This record gives sequence, structure tokens and C-alpha cells, in this order.
Amino acid sequence: MKNDAPQTLLNDAVNAPVDTWVPITVAHGDGIGPEIMAATLKVLAAAGARIVPETIEIGENMYLAGHSSGIAPEAWDSLRRTQVFLKAPITTPSGGGYKSLNVTIRKTLGLYANVRPCVSYAPFVATQHPKLNLVIVRENEEDLYAGIEHRQTDEVFQCLKLITRPGCEKIVRYAFEYARAHGRKKVTCMSKDNIMKMTDGLFHQVFDEIRTEYPEIATEHMIIDIGAARLATKPEQFDVIVTPNLYGDILSDIAAEMTGSVGLAGSANIGEHVAMFEAIHGSAPDIAGQGIANPSGLLLGAVMMLVHIGQPEVAERIHNAWLCTIEDGQVTTDLHQASAGTVPLGCMAFADAVIERLGRVPQHFATVRYQAPTPQSNQTDQAPKRPLYLRAPAAAKALVGVDVFVHEGKRTVKALAGQLQAASTPALQLQMITNRGVKVWPQGFPETFCTDHWRCRFTATSAQGTIGQRDIVELMAALTDAGIDVIKTENLCTFNGVQGFALGQGQ
Ligand code: NAD
Repeated sequence: MKNDAPQTLLNDAVNAPVDTWVPITVAHGDGIGPEIMAATLKVLAAAGARIVPETIEIGENMYLAGHSSGIAPEAWDSLRRTQVFLKAPITTPSGGGYKSLNVTIRKTLGLYANVRPCVSYAPFVATQHPKLNLVIVRENEEDLYAGIEHRQTDEVFQCLKLITRPGCEKIVRYAFEYARAHGRKKVTCMSKDNIMKMTDGLFHQVFDEIRTEYPEIATEHMIIDIGAARLATKPEQFDVIVTPNLYGDILSDIAAEMTGSVGLAGSANIGEHVAMFEAIHGSAPDIAGQGIANPSGLLLGAVMMLVHIGQPEVAERIHNAWLCTIEDGQVTTDLHQASAGTVPLGCMAFADAVIERLGRVPQHFATVRYQAPTPQSNQTDQAPKRPLYLRAPAAAKALVGVDVFVHEGKRTVKALAGQLQAASTPALQLQMITNRGVKVWPQGFPETFCTDHWRCRFTATSAQGTIGQRDIVELMAALTDAGIDVIKTENLCTFNGVQGFALGQGQ
């Protein structure tokens, strides 16, 4: 498979000639992983998937062999060569020192979009939400998952939430292109921009910018709390949901569980170069080796993979045969309902039941139709492909002050303010002090609980309202000489005249 246009929305696999056999990297995983992978590969082979699997080992054995991320260095070669990864679940050994393999793979390979379709299969799978049919498109690389955490004082620990314009543009555009390519009618953005006005505010703003390019798709924005509440009670209102990493992680597990079984959902992790496909569930060690695991999540992940690599007709055959199998009441034990007359099958017997139905289309469910995605669907071959992200010209940036974070557990805020004022330099004056974001000086409230972590805002005294970096260095020297325990600083800047920092709460 080649990919010579990495800056486009999906890689060139989708344009591969139909007779191309596509190398893919396969990991059989831990627990039920080998069972469900064997069942999945059997169905893929029977359906005529033109894939050439290369096996790599990841997971528990690799962790225990001393690879702290659960993957051996040579496995990356296969992933970078094939650029397509079908992955069974793995077991993360308990105890510290082991890093999440999923997070490592997603971030190392730039898999920025996590796509999880969640569909109810009532009445064949028991669910309280028979009309649930939605796709969660979750940002996969940034937000609180940047993993930048520090202990700053005796009492305070910090995790940095990083939201970037490229990250927002890539995921929001992906969600709209996905909706367009899959005939979805609405994209809902969920964020918490009423509180996090700059980070989630950027996500919402980018959504508002990009949605104008897709006039045929309905759009809405919801604050994540009411959005999650509506998802839990009226999931049929939703079609495609796009949301930052943490909210998407939580929402997608809830939505998958609402369909009736975690064993049912597959997911895709899409990057500019590489894509990874898997089931959403874990390695289920409690049922490993019994031959009863449901392979459907991995199989439906593999269906997404086949569409991605340009074999939509094979994806369609498998998906329709799988729906026929469910309709015929042939299910794995996790879905068995004696009252509904279903027949419980083992993992491989279920795969065989799907194989028997290849070529059939479902009677109760709608027939699935896939086409090789043309995510640049509004563009002709002649038109240049739209880049995923175009870097804007740098803004005019002016330094106007500095927030100095201070560790102070004994003195009152009044005493701290007096000491900071005394140590101030001519270029910078103390404007306010906040504690956990709330203004406590000047004119704080005695009721406000204070911890040992103070954000002390210094602003420029000059008529132009700007300072230089050296003014901050001088302030740091003065504060150090005065015995202040400075934890860190954050520069206060304007960008093209617009303030690039939030006010203190109560300021
Ligand atoms: P789990 O998803 O493995 O299991 C939760 C429950 O669902 C169990 O009762 C299990 O038997 C059942 N279940 C899961 N998949 C099933 C299937 N296909 N068919 C039938 N029943 C199924 O979650 P867990 O028990 O919290 O985690 C077990 C291990 O999996 C842990 O080591 C965890 O770190 C790992 N994990 C891996 C991934 C991944 O590799 N993508 C994801 C989640 C968890």
C-alpha cells in the first residue's frame, strides 16, 4: 500500500486498484484476543478479503519482557510499512510502570480520529434503546490525554489540557467528511465551552467555522453535560457526535454499552498515514480460553478496515451476513436470550454461521451498502485535494504580563501580596492573586477556601502596556531574592490585539 499524499483526509489505500492485495499488520493480543482474531480472520478469508496479514506480538508478554509500552521496537517496522493495523485486545499487567499501549500507538502514529459506530440490534439484542444508531468521532491525541502532569505543591497536582487548532480542525473536518461519506444527516459538537472558554471554546469555534463548508449537513452544539444526559435518554436524536478526547472516551463507552453488549462494537483509529482497527472491549480474561467470546466487535472493526483499504464490497458481504446471523437468532452466549429463542454459539461456531450467510442480505435490518470512501467528496479529481490543516500566518504577539505561580502554605494572602508588591520590579506590578482560579486579592472573600497554590498576575506598567522577556527574568530574580517559592510562570500575551489568557474568576 502506498501513501504519497499524507496531508489528505484518508490515505491512498482507498484508491488502490480492486485487484491489489493489501498487507496488513495483525496482533492476536491477550485473553480472548487470539480466539476472536482467529474467528475474524476466518470470516475475512471466506469473504474474499484481499489482505496479506503480517503478525506482530504486543501486549502482556511484551510488557513482561521489559517493553514498558507493551510493544517491541521491531513491531513498529511492520506498522509503518503496512500502515493498516488490525488489533485484538491486550491485557495491561497490573502494577505501576506500564504505559498504555493504545495511547502510545495512537500518539506515535498520529491516529487523530477515533471513530466508534454504536448501533442497537433490537429485538435480537436486548436494549432499552432500540433506535440507537450513532457514530462518535472522538479527538484521539490531545486534551487531558497529553499526559503532562506535575505535582506543584504539597496540596496541588496539575494535568495540562492542551487543545490545538490543528487538532480541532482535523477532527471536526474528519467528522463532517465521515458524515458526508456515510450519508449521515447531522453532526453534533459537544464541549464545555461555557467554562473552558479558550480550550473548549476553540473546539466550538472551529466547529462553527468548518460547518459552513457542509451546508447539506445539519449541525448543533451542546454543552457536554446536557449532551451526555440526552444521549443517555434520547440517543435517537443523535447521528454523528464530534467531541474532544476525554468527553469522547466517556461518551463512547456509554453509547456502546447502551446498545446491549460491549462485545458488539468495533472502532477505527484513523491517522494521516496509519489506521488501526479493533473491538472496543478488553481482553476479557474471565472468559479467555473457553471459546465463548463474541468476535463481533473485532469483526465489525475489520469491516471498517476493509472499507478503509478500498474493499467495500467485501466489507458489505461480511456486514450483511453478520446481520443475517443476528436476525436468525444465532448469537454468542453473551447475547443469548432464552425467551427470544436465540441459539447460543461458541466463538468459532458463530464465525461459521456468518460464513454460511455470506452473500445474503438481512430481512429485518436495512441492508448495508459501502463504497470506498471519497472523503474529499466535494472535490473533483482535477481540483487540488484540500489539506487537513493549513497553518495560518503567525499572529502579531505582544507580551503584556506574567502569571507567577507560587507555593505558599503559611502566610495569609494579604501578607503574600505585601511581599510580592515589595519585590516587584519597575516594569511589572501585581494586579491580582487567585487561588484555584478564584480572585482572592484584592478584595477577596473570607469564605473562599485557599490551598497552598497561588496564581499571582503581574502586568506591564509601561504606557504601551507591553514588556520584554528580560522584565520577567528580572521579576523572577527579585522574587527569588525575596524568598518566594515560584513553581512556574505563564506568559500573558495578546495575539493580533486579542487577549490570549482568561480573567480570574471574580476579576
Ligand atoms: P473487558 O472489556 O475485557 O471485559 C468486561 C466484561 O465484558 C467482562 O465480563 C468480559 O467477559 C465481557 N466481555 C468483553 N468482551 C467480550 C466479548 N467479546 N464477548 C463476550 N464478553 C465480553 O474489560 P476489563 O475486564 O475491564 O479489562 C480486561 C483487560 O483488558 C485489562 O487488562 C484491560 O487493561 C484490558 N483492556 C484492553 C483494551 C484494548 O486492548 N483495546 C481495552 C479495554 C481493556
